[in-house]
Amino acid sequence: MAEPSVRRRTDCRLCAGSELELVLALTPTPPANAFVPPAERDKPQPVFPLDLFLCKSCFHLQMLDVVDPRLLFENYVYVSGTSPVFVRHFQDYAAELIRRYKPAPGALALDIGSNDGTLLRFFKEAGLAVLGIDPARSIAEAATQAGIETAVGFFTPEFAERLRSERGPATIVTANNVFAHIDDLAGVVRGVRSLLAPAGIFAFEVSYLADVVEKTLFDTIYHEHLSYHSVRPLIRFFAAHGMELIEAQRIPSHGGSLRGIAQLRGGPWKAGPSVGEALALEERLGLDKAESFRAFGRDIDRVKAELRRVLQGFKAAGKSIAGFGAPAKATTLMYHFGIGPEIVDFIVDDSPLKQGLLTPGMHIPVLGSSALAERHPDYLIVLAWNFAQSIMAKHGAYRAAGGHFVVPLPEIELI
Ligand SMILES: [Zn+2]
Repeated sequence: MAEPSVRRRTDCRLCAGSELELVLALTPTPPANAFVPPAERDKPQPVFPLDLFLCKSCFHLQMLDVVDPRLLFENYVYVSGTSPVFVRHFQDYAAELIRRYKPAPGALALDIGSNDGTLLRFFKEAGLAVLGIDPARSIAEAATQAGIETAVGFFTPEFAERLRSERGPATIVTANNVFAHIDDLAGVVRGVRSLLAPAGIFAFEVSYLADVVEKTLFDTIYHEHLSYHSVRPLIRFFAAHGMELIEAQRIPSHGGSLRGIAQLRGGPWKAGPSVGEALALEERLGLDKAESFRAFGRDIDRVKAELRRVLQGFKAAGKSIAGFGAPAKATTLMYHFGIGPEIVDFIVDDSPLKQGLLTPGMHIPVLGSSALAERHPDYLIVLAWNFAQSIMAKHGAYRAAGGHFVVPLPEIELI
């Protein structure tokens, strides 16, 4: 594999402003999903900065270092249809958009970053014409074979124009869990604007900065996530592209997300109260102030110091420690907290795709959960800490046999 390449942009991703202030610098990491086979154990992986900058013009919080997206997404292995919670979520989401915005039968719905077509399947069942676009070739081809036509690639203004000339305008365009991942957001929104029918809507779901700050979700900061969205900068961004944001609803996905809905400027839909409510919340949290993010960084470092003290105490007492969960966010957490192979012997993960591999950069082995009974570590750090309750419930046998869970965030808990 070629060395990952990275470039640093010098202007704001949303407003092109050039006054950007560094407000949070986490420890540099390799790409968070760059798990490696054991044969590459001794090959060092390059690390890239995890620096967040606040735009002083529109207050968008963002990463300026952009790792080559082909490296991050073309071999993407996450398949949304494998999670019943997400399937149900997309089912409700499709139903709500149809109920509110009443697309005509046969109208076109396009999903950007459509993954395995889970959302589009529900639009199709409701009588809409559907098309997906996704850069992960194997997932896109499997979706097409399963009856959800999916183009392989990235959504660009050129793709949008070609699609419009071939199939006419789209009534619904969606983009879920991708709006934080795309460097050229202006290009995406230009494409959406040229593709939308006059009464069409653009709906997107994205991790919400208010939740990141309120719930200390700092480990959602990794290279795939270039933008940390809040409503205030997005209002201005859409307006600059001839569109208007009409909804900004908070939803529980990924620890706290935003469902934004935009229409063409002067479109027929009325804006709901959710936009104003989000603006008030952001004002209260100070999301337009550099100091708010500096305080956030101090909170993270306080937890880090405490956790390291606890773990080093266990090691000094001769105890063994393993980790539970190897999601992308664990890379950020382990690097920033300095939890490496000298502390953690191995990590257990339920995904067969990760078992047998080594974690990005630190090269800690990822094993199946049978390793808990075989090796019985004294302590288990729950790296997928946002799922701590279900993990502890599922692995009650480990605790019954004398094991202990360490939940690192939002506050350290020993169970
Ligand atoms: Zn800006």
